[in-house]
Amino acid sequence: MNVLSPDTALGLDPSRSLFINGTFEPSASSATFATIDPSTERVLGRVARGDTADIDRAVTAAKRAVRGDWLRITPAQRGRLLYMLADVLVARKQELARIETLDVGKPLKESLGDVDGVVATLRYNAGAADKLEGSTIPLGREVIDFTLLEPIGVTAHIVPWNYPLGMLARSVAPALAAGCTAVIKPAEQSPLSALLFAQCCDEAGIPPGVVNVVTGYGEEAGAALVSHSDVAGVTFTGSVETGRLVYQNAARGLKPAVLELGGKNPLIVFPDADLERAVADIVDGAFGNSGQVCSSSSRLLLHRDIHDEFLDRLTQAAGRLTIGPGLDDRDLGPLVSAEQYQRVTGYLDHGRREGARVRLGGGRPPDLPQGYFVAPTILDKVEPAHIVAREEIFGPVAIALSFTTEVEATALANGLGYGLVAGVYTRDIGRALRLAQDIEAGSVWINGWFLGGQQAPTGGVKNSGVGRERGLPGLMNYLRIKNIGIRL
Ligand code: NAD
Repeated sequence: MNVLSPDTALGLDPSRSLFINGTFEPSASSATFATIDPSTERVLGRVARGDTADIDRAVTAAKRAVRGDWLRITPAQRGRLLYMLADVLVARKQELARIETLDVGKPLKESLGDVDGVVATLRYNAGAADKLEGSTIPLGREVIDFTLLEPIGVTAHIVPWNYPLGMLARSVAPALAAGCTAVIKPAEQSPLSALLFAQCCDEAGIPPGVVNVVTGYGEEAGAALVSHSDVAGVTFTGSVETGRLVYQNAARGLKPAVLELGGKNPLIVFPDADLERAVADIVDGAFGNSGQVCSSSSRLLLHRDIHDEFLDRLTQAAGRLTIGPGLDDRDLGPLVSAEQYQRVTGYLDHGRREGARVRLGGGRPPDLPQGYFVAPTILDKVEPAHIVAREEIFGPVAIALSFTTEVEATALANGLGYGLVAGVYTRDIGRALRLAQDIEAGSVWINGWFLGGQQAPTGGVKNSGVGRERGLPGLMNYLRIKNIGIRL
């Protein structure tokens, strides 16, 4: 029996969907779980429900590889294998994107863009593999002292459902480039593309055990992975709540953890800004991937002088967005799951009860009775204390607040426990740079949204996370410094 419906053609037996030591294997318990197509609410396929015993097999394979095949080849050869992997992904791009779209619901064009991002990430890190250099330390003529950068060992990668491939590659690519091996735990809502990624690793010639994938539930497979004594480091992307648990678990084993968590990101618009550009960026930043984006521009802080006119323009532009099943490739797809649909519509009900005005959308589009669809929604008449203004909704919902002074805008921007990204739209460069310094966030974008790429570090402050990914700092998560001193 195929793990998937025929059109997805992954061709796996559900009882053998754990990728361990280069082969697809059954879970020790033989248990499986369903993954759902959010556009139709139908079962897309079943995959193995890995647990502690399976994690142990995967970590053991990764440990063998990190001391064996992966250690024996040169960094340049590692880089070449990552380039090969990127090429395999390019060749299988349509297949990868289709699976991602079926599993997550996102429009096909977004999934194709995600695969492009993964390829770029692999190539960036492939190029860095043989450029990770230590340093020499001047201790005088009697001692030569230098550092080696060593791979930390077996690394755990716990991935969310909103960008399954993208988030996986963001941490796995630098880990492999640094000489580490990886055990990946995909999100239970969207496990399929990780299995295809595993097939691609095999096809590219990545040695067995270097990349392992254990599908399963967070509290079973995920928790077991973080706690495993042979896991040297953890990279987790997901919610603040789970991030805290993961951090506690990692701390018990005294292992480093990178946590990429949620956000409620302020986008501040001053009257002198290029309003057309700001509108276009919000349409993309708040409603792309149906707002299921950690760095979505979900909290609009609009100067009082332009508040009404700006919201009129934004409402018009967002009102033109189309919505439908992922494979129909409209502007928005469904939300990922029934749970996520309940969560987002629950927030909308709460917002209405608190007195928010629905300028656009507000729930399920009437022509889409099936699937987890929520229309692009804009709420105004919201107070900073309202729940919808304070909590991450993680759906296609933008809320608008107004301000009058720069000081007030900064206070609003910094007024929550989150600190992932923020945006400032103004032609006054002095003001932009003052705010960039004063805003508590891992990234501040000026007159643009979703800036940066695989070269630019990303991460949160406050509850939005610990550590940085991407760029050269992202590679350091997988390296430790050894100091060597020689008396002459
Ligand atoms: P989640 O925390 O529910 O799950 C994330 C992953 O953790 C899943 O693979 C899940 O199975 C696993 N997990 C759950 N319990 C676990 C446990 N006890 N031990 C180990 N692993 C466990 O998050 P989600 O709902 O999948 O993702 C949405 C959240 O992710 C949002 O808050 C979003 O902002 C955040 N996110 C952040 C970034 C970033 O870069 N900062 C990127 C994407 C998503």
